[in-house]
Amino acid sequence: MHYQAPSDLLNQKIIMVTGASDGIGKEAALTYARHGARLILLGRTESKLLQVQQAIAQQGSLPATVYAFDLLNAKPADYKTLAEKIAKEYGHLDGLLHSAGLLGEITPLAEQDPEQWNQVMHVNLNAGFMLTQVMIPLLLQAPKASLIFTSSGVGRKGRRGWGAYSVSKFATEGLMQVLADEYQDSNLRVNCINPGGTRTSMRASAFPEENPNNLKTPADIMPTYLYVMGDDSQNESGISFDAQPGRKPGPA
Ligand code: NDP
Repeated sequence: MHYQAPSDLLNQKIIMVTGASDGIGKEAALTYARHGARLILLGRTESKLLQVQQAIAQQGSLPATVYAFDLLNAKPADYKTLAEKIAKEYGHLDGLLHSAGLLGEITPLAEQDPEQWNQVMHVNLNAGFMLTQVMIPLLLQAPKASLIFTSSGVGRKGRRGWGAYSVSKFATEGLMQVLADEYQDSNLRVNCINPGGTRTSMRASAFPEENPNNLKTPADIMPTYLYVMGDDSQNESGISFDAQPGRKPGPA
């Protein structure tokens, strides 16, 4: 997408990013902060989140808050407590980007370990549902709010070996569509972004033979992440955006 975001696109907006400790989520957090947002960083590994918080401070952006939150093991009460803390500190949310994700094992379905299946479905789908559910009241408090899920090419067309990951991404597209329909007459828009093959550690573990230099970096795909988060997309809901339109799925 050739979108040129104004430097104040997200001025004073309060935006939560999951998976903010690494890869695409980390880049999105840094980019949103540079465009004026106040970031709430969610992730599994606190030390990595603190580094992102520091990088946000070093680039002169508004101070970010860190919440170490394990999407695999968090219980409903933990989500409720998190939402209460955010409500107390900020009062509302202007945006939520779900970027956290788990690849699991690339293996035929017949050989997929059910425990791993459950973990991938939990982190990629169930946790996104639970976090969204507790954050919706805060999103509805914003003048215009953007809720973004992260999809994948294998969430639109199944591919052998991609088992739970692929199925979780199909379900994520469904979750987005149901929510978009439910909130179509509100301030809240709901969309997916399919990043397309991007140079991160998840991609490297999925395609170890691939030359990472042939892939776009997280920074390269930020125009789409900015467009969907900012008010220029205020009339778009229920859409699955491609951050790399026309890119052929599979190894680069
Ligand atoms: P990375 O592996 O680089 O980052 C994944 C992030 O998710 C990390 O911040 C990680 O935390 C976090 N995470 C994983 N498990 C948990 C958990 N249990 N609780 C909380 N946080 C967790 O992946 P990418 O940046 O590549 O992927 C981002 C999103 O984009 C994912 O949803 C992925 O499925 C999707 N995607 C990526 C593509 C690509 O080519 N890179 C292509 C298509 C889709 P920690 O740092 O602690 O490990």
